[in-house]
Amino acid sequence: MAQNEQKSSSPRAGYRGRLAPSPTGYLHLGHARTFWIASERARAAGGVLVLRSDDLDASRYRLDFADAMIEDLRWLGLRWEEGPDVGGPHAPYRQSQRRALYRRALKRLHAARLIYPCAHTRRDVVEAAGAPHEGGEDDEPVYPPALRPDPAAPLPPLGEKTDVNWRLRVPDGEELSFVDTRLGRQSAVAGRHFGDFPVWRKDDCPSYQLACAVDDAAMGITEVVRGADLVRSTFRQLLLYRALGVAAPAFHHCPLMADDAGLRLAKRHDALSLRELRGRGRSPESLVEPWRDSGLAAG
Ligand code: GLU
Repeated sequence: MAQNEQKSSSPRAGYRGRLAPSPTGYLHLGHARTFWIASERARAAGGVLVLRSDDLDASRYRLDFADAMIEDLRWLGLRWEEGPDVGGPHAPYRQSQRRALYRRALKRLHAARLIYPCAHTRRDVVEAAGAPHEGGEDDEPVYPPALRPDPAAPLPPLGEKTDVNWRLRVPDGEELSFVDTRLGRQSAVAGRHFGDFPVWRKDDCPSYQLACAVDDAAMGITEVVRGADLVRSTFRQLLLYRALGVAAPAFHHCPLMADDAGLRLAKRHDALSLRELRGRGRSPESLVEPWRDSGLAAG
């Protein structure tokens, strides 16, 4: 094990998996396949599956999408033991109702002086960062160290409301790694492949990274199954697990699905939404069968 490799829980011991859709549009075939894999892995391990609604982004979230998401997942044949519709020991299962937990984590990061307020705009960051970094165009640019405050400078208090981004100061040059249950060993260097990232946003909303790590830990998730587009996020979340003093889960990043033109599926692909497919008379079994035949959930 590399020196900085994160210890993670065994994916099989008391397996707890989760589905964490964001209700910002109708679920498409790519989401469905990832969620089906998550569900199959939980079943194969004799474990528990949790449904969590990642509804933090109030500007993009819609109640009808949240209801549709549950209906579509059920239509596909997925079942979960805990979730917003069925309750459970870790309720509430909607991130919009879990703010107090994120705030507690933020205070802890602040007390440890691991975060700092950043008033720079996205444009400042992009301009100061220069050429696209090794994380690729998809990811946010590496935050330029020149824009960081002096670590020895007094840290402003956390106000009740936040109107700047609070960023985690990443340990520049440290190699982080984890062993993905599908992709094998993955590593990235902090400060090179990703930089200081927001844990709380200037619209006073916790960032995806913070909310996700806090919830996966609080809900006792043992294996996170999600799309391979989030591998880079996993490294950020590993730093948060460490900073918050909690064990990281295991990770299984699924292949992404592309359309006929090779473009990654997104919520704009209405024709491939589960709703649309269902409306056209497709059966859930006809969608799932090829995934089952290709052994996608193994690993
Ligand atoms: N809500 C996030 C998404 O839909 C979840 C990502 C994750 O599984 O961590 O992209």
